[in-house]
Amino acid sequence: MNRNPQKSVDQIRRPDPRDAARAYESGTVPIDCSGWPSPQQQPVYPALEGSIETDVVVIGAGLAGASVSLHLAELGVATVTLEAKQPATGASGRNAGHVQPYLDVLEPLQAWPDQGKRLLHALIENRNIVYDLCRKHGIQGDASPDGLLEAAFKPSAALEKKAATWRAYGYDVQGIDANAVRAMLGTERYRWGIHWKEGGRVNPYLFTNGMIAAAARLGARVHGDSPVLSCERDGQRWRVKTPQGTVTARRVVICTSNHAGNRFFPHLAQTQYPLVACGLATRPLPDALLKTLNPARVVFTQYPAGLYPLVIDGRNRLITATIPGPGKAGDAATYFKLLLRFLHRTFPQSRDFDLELESYWTGVTASSSHVYHQDYAKYYRVDDNVFALMNLGTWGNVMGPLLGQSLARALAAGRPEDCVLPLEAPRPVKSPGLFEFKVRRLMIPAARLLDTLGMA
Ligand SMILES: Cc1cc2nc3c(=O)[nH]c(=O)nc-3n(C[C@H](O)[C@H](O)[C@H](O)COP(=O)(O)OP(=O)(O)OC[C@H]3O[C@@H](n4cnc5c(N)ncnc54)[C@H](O)[C@@H]3O)c2cc1C
Repeated sequence: MNRNPQKSVDQIRRPDPRDAARAYESGTVPIDCSGWPSPQQQPVYPALEGSIETDVVVIGAGLAGASVSLHLAELGVATVTLEAKQPATGASGRNAGHVQPYLDVLEPLQAWPDQGKRLLHALIENRNIVYDLCRKHGIQGDASPDGLLEAAFKPSAALEKKAATWRAYGYDVQGIDANAVRAMLGTERYRWGIHWKEGGRVNPYLFTNGMIAAAARLGARVHGDSPVLSCERDGQRWRVKTPQGTVTARRVVICTSNHAGNRFFPHLAQTQYPLVACGLATRPLPDALLKTLNPARVVFTQYPAGLYPLVIDGRNRLITATIPGPGKAGDAATYFKLLLRFLHRTFPQSRDFDLELESYWTGVTASSSHVYHQDYAKYYRVDDNVFALMNLGTWGNVMGPLLGQSLARALAAGRPEDCVLPLEAPRPVKSPGLFEFKVRRLMIPAARLLDTLGMA
């Protein structure tokens, strides 16, 4: 309803298209643009008002902060969680929904004090953590452990080696031939693949909200619309201020991911390579197409260049994420066109159907390495009793819950160094723009070209 009938249509202020372009480019479009929020509303957590005291204050309620809060609350540690907006409105409500229960490369772990043994052990033991948490806490996260398939144009020694490594760790993963790929995926495009029987998909927005709701049920105090403005020492404790309130805490855990714009410990923002990515969800696929396109419902990526990793979710929508070109993050039409081209090429049966775009959004990943897939999460000692768990890169759906659990246990035991990640001092990365430049200007355009030519 127009509340001001005297105001002509021309006088009504329209959003400046440049603002929209900036929001897409910075991955801050409203969370309702994302394909993951469901029509059933999530709880809205009230802003912090007044002064409260606690043992641990967790800043940020994405996958990392939600898991730290949940596991601290489970262990009976007094916890307050402060989120600038509402839970899962950052990268965690905007990702591609893949639950990858393994690591792509292990070599960087050799440089860790324990050669990464504790992380590997924890991952192997907790590789189903997403599904376990959903079961344990009754989280309705559209989580489905249907497995993953990496499909390749020809057998790959690197993929075989990866499968053998993880099989030796007890994973159920097999190389499969063209016939098996065709039966699972419904395409003749690939000659070979590896099939991970564990892992699968999750709705990361609902899952993160579910962890936060479980934390609140277990006694954590959760406040939304409470951006932390400052974090200052107050004797042996820390005073954390939001616009309308203050939390005084013994310990602080920062889980703000892309820390840009924050005035407290601003140097954390220099520890990472940010990268914008866009997500697309189609309207539910027609039944006839669902019978032949990915009938096994595995999470599918193409090897080596996974330009359009595909998930079919519980509403039968196709969901993917890709990296937009420089300045093009808001261009939904272009990326939907490219997705359709890929689908038509890979699944020729899809040409007979009119697929429609339901949602288009962007988000930002924060990585600790400018080498793709070597972006291990970071755990920083920022100051006395101030820790940060961030830079989860593209592996947040498993790493957020897993590392949050490990950090919570370490803090509850009063031994922060016992977390499975090495405790490091925050260090600025070299050439912060390098990763984005390489990925958006060089790697992705080259991969798109090779894929179009059928040479990827
Ligand atoms: C398009 C896309 C696709 C992806 N695909 C996958 C995938 O398929 N599988 C996978 O495992 N990972 C994927 N990822 C990566 C994954 O989403 C991230 O690793 C993960 O969400 C990071 O979680 P987080 O909790 O560290 O950060 P976030 O979810 O960004 O949470 C940080 C929170 O901190 C809050 N915050 C910031 N500043 C303040 C402040 N001052 N006060 C209070 N709160 C503050 C923010 O509002 C935000 O809610 C993808 C990411 C993107 C963008």
